Amino acid sequence: MLFSELNLSTPILKAIAEEGYTTPTPVQAQAIPYILAGRDMLAGAQTGTGKTAGFTLPMLELLSREQTPQSKRHHIKTLILTPTRELAAQVGMSVQTYGKYLPFKSTIIFGGVGANPQINAINNGVDILIATPGRLLDLINQKVINLSKVEMFVLDEADRMLDMGFIRDIKKIIALLPAKRQNLLFSATYSDEIKKLCESILKNPAVVEVARRNTSSELVKQSVILVDCKRKSALLGHLIEKNRWEQVLVFTRTKHGANKLSEYLQKLGITSAAIHGNKSQGARTKALSDFKANKVRVLVATDIAARGIDIDSLPHVVNLELPNIAEDYVHRIGRTGRAGNGGEAISLVCVDEFDYLRGIEKLIKKTLDKSTIDGYEPDPSIKAEPIQQGRGGGRNNNHRSKSNTQTPKKRDASTHNRDKNRR
Ligand code: AMP
Repeated sequence: MLFSELNLSTPILKAIAEEGYTTPTPVQAQAIPYILAGRDMLAGAQTGTGKTAGFTLPMLELLSREQTPQSKRHHIKTLILTPTRELAAQVGMSVQTYGKYLPFKSTIIFGGVGANPQINAINNGVDILIATPGRLLDLINQKVINLSKVEMFVLDEADRMLDMGFIRDIKKIIALLPAKRQNLLFSATYSDEIKKLCESILKNPAVVEVARRNTSSELVKQSVILVDCKRKSALLGHLIEKNRWEQVLVFTRTKHGANKLSEYLQKLGITSAAIHGNKSQGARTKALSDFKANKVRVLVATDIAARGIDIDSLPHVVNLELPNIAEDYVHRIGRTGRAGNGGEAISLVCVDEFDYLRGIEKLIKKTLDKSTIDGYEPDPSIKAEPIQQGRGGGRNNNHRSKSNTQTPKKRDASTHNRDKNRR
């Protein structure tokens, strides 16, 4: 299928062609016709699948088909809610890119920065508003924003919204929308909570499910380096220097781990910044822009903070620690190998994590290449410590490796929430 077969008008097709895209991704091919037909939609799709264009393109098309004098005035016609500032920025960029030959005005609002420029932008007239929930509610309360003329409502990464505790805010916002509107909900997972939310928002929705990114990540070269837990940071420093990596995204499981690693790398003379939930919005934005501009070589992130990071052709992703949720591994490696570019994802794995590793290999249906680095080989006398419970990391697996054959102990389900909160 080609974009030209999707009933999109010339200004939009021209903008798509300028991005170099000819073929819609599966989520785009499935979702665009439903959205153009005015249907509510539930889409099971995550970052990396092309979902943003999947809703942005038909949204712009529908707006451009409206011809009344009223619709020509700038007022908020589309509201897109995202869980993080980074994702809001990414969506905002897509709206700008694909809408560049259309007369619509869009703006992004999010917390953690001064509100005045955002208020000015709103007062100047906006057709498409991309927002995180907290700041949106603030500006609604200040009577800067009025949602009474919204025609389309998009809830992006609804599962992360719930994970981040936004459910009450979302409900408050929905209560302010007109009853007659089109609703689109995107979620990578489909829990009972998401089902309930869908039932309360969506009317007779079309359901679009696309393959998880793990089935489309062949472009990413994935491997495992076995090493002792205590030597991981040193090994990472060694790999960065030896291979002269200039732009590396490193994942840690905890905020504390992200800070510690970033400080360690700085001491080695490797420029580095950490982003996680405890950092102010300003610090996160700066870290990300410095990283994109190649001012810092290493960005250390936790899973949630990394959501929405969209850097085309990010060459290296390193898992300093494996995630305890196997699906998060897929999200993480999805940061590389994008839009046709190859990428490399390396996981530094110690004996405590073999259980997680098996869970990941099961999910991606692939056995990862395992190797060691001279001078950093694991000490075979070190035995596994108990590891903590996660949603997806493989369970009850007796992984035997060349370096150590200790089976990690089963994890305790009660640690699940505590573990989740640490991320
Ligand atoms: P998303 O899932 O929306 O975060 O998009 C992931 C990446 O795919 C972004 O870098 C987009 O620019 C890119 N992309 C979106 N649509 C297409 C397409 N049809 N062909 C190639 N790349 C695309």
